[in-house]
Amino acid sequence: MNPLFTQLSLRAELHLALSKAGFSRMTPIQSESLPELLAGKDVVAQAKTGSGKTLAFSLAMLQNLVLSAQHIQGLILAPTRELANQVAEEVRKLARELGNVKVLTICGGEAIGPQMSSLEHGAHIVVGTPGRVEEHLFKGTLDLTQVTHFILDEADQMLDMGFVDAIENIAVYLPPTRQTMMFSATYPKDIEQLSARFMQSPMLVKGETESLNRQIKQQFFPLKNNKLRFNTLRLLLLQHKPQSCIVFCNTKVETKKLFLELQQTGLQVAVLHGDLAQIERQRMLLRFANKSASILVATDVAARGLDIEDIDMVVNYHMALDPQTHVHRVGRTGRGGKKGFACSLYGENETFKVTQLSELYEREFNPSPTPPLSLLDKPAYKPTMVTVMIDAGKKQKVRAGDIVGCLTGENGIGSAQIGNITVQDNQAYIAIFREAVKPAMRKLNAEKIKGKRIKAKRLV
Ligand code: ADP
Ligand code: MG
Repeated sequence: MNPLFTQLSLRAELHLALSKAGFSRMTPIQSESLPELLAGKDVVAQAKTGSGKTLAFSLAMLQNLVLSAQHIQGLILAPTRELANQVAEEVRKLARELGNVKVLTICGGEAIGPQMSSLEHGAHIVVGTPGRVEEHLFKGTLDLTQVTHFILDEADQMLDMGFVDAIENIAVYLPPTRQTMMFSATYPKDIEQLSARFMQSPMLVKGETESLNRQIKQQFFPLKNNKLRFNTLRLLLLQHKPQSCIVFCNTKVETKKLFLELQQTGLQVAVLHGDLAQIERQRMLLRFANKSASILVATDVAARGLDIEDIDMVVNYHMALDPQTHVHRVGRTGRGGKKGFACSLYGENETFKVTQLSELYEREFNPSPTPPLSLLDKPAYKPTMVTVMIDAGKKQKVRAGDIVGCLTGENGIGSAQIGNITVQDNQAYIAIFREAVKPAMRKLNAEKIKGKRIKAKRLV
């Protein structure tokens, strides 16, 4: 059995927050790293995705936070806006019992002006992406001179994205007395070099590393030339008709291009890459998670850290750059004892990669035949759900119950035909079974919710 959180001497408010969240036992990376972190040591922690790294550094940071002080005490760097927001949410949740802890996110892709004024109002903790944090430092709009906790989350990913210079520039602004913590899913050489540069005799702790899942069925498809890539993917999708499939590309440019091409074939596709505005990103994720988009095209970076269950198929549109990345990608399917399935497309000069993977998985991966071309004449398959967006949300006092009430009223649809409902500030998203969409739209557009007429729109 893993050790209990009660064995740690934490503030009572943190113990309370943990028990309210239903967390009683530490995960292995938490029990390995927390004693060192709470003792104030610099730590490099490595453990696979989903092992609870966020909670480890958040606890260590909040344990020493001085609420009455108005300056920034914790700085967390994360590779993407999505992850920064996820981390900020988790820190806020954990800090709730402590009182009014101010956590700000400072990410690229958002207007810089509002960030400056939020910073002027003061914050205890800043979570940001390296580029934007660096920008604020250069402009003189961010004061990090009193930071006591400096955290690099998903450090390997930040290095892959070329943030090393930004990180080093940021470190210069921090007091040398601070505690530095680095969290990473993998531990490549460059992480070691990076940690040596601005950490003080760091301890290396390891939790669970991503294990090979040999239960996942894997197929490999050789491509005689690159022109065959797109149709081979289409054939595989039309043959298997996955409900939730992630298609991995190696670059953002390829991701954008493939998304548009797949969309043109009539498939319901979502895409994730660094250039999406926050609202688009949320919409993409929502449609994929509620099963109204069957395919998600993504880069490794964009897909990192996202908690989406029930992936029935993974496609490597391009072979991963290294075997470890392949293991990560493929490990998205077949979770929790479910059946997993992965297809990889490879060029003739990449046969060595398939050989490498055969050795790694200790299984013989032979080339698979492409599905019959006649499949291309079939119409694109449709997902079970459709997402409907309405133009009212929390600010208009709309709750999920109001929406269900409207939909299931007279001449409405059955409650079993309604899936996830997500209510945001000024809009709400409703997943509805495809066959019930028409009556649902009619109902939403005809009725009032909270005394107000609303407009419903089908998202494609
Ligand atoms: P990582 O950063 O290692 O990929 P996260 O920190 O995002 O993983 O944690 C994954 C999930 O596990 C989160 O939903 C988190 O709330 C949950 N979690 C973290 N620690 C515990 C714990 N001790 N017990 C139960 N669940 C936990
Ligand atoms: Mg994480």
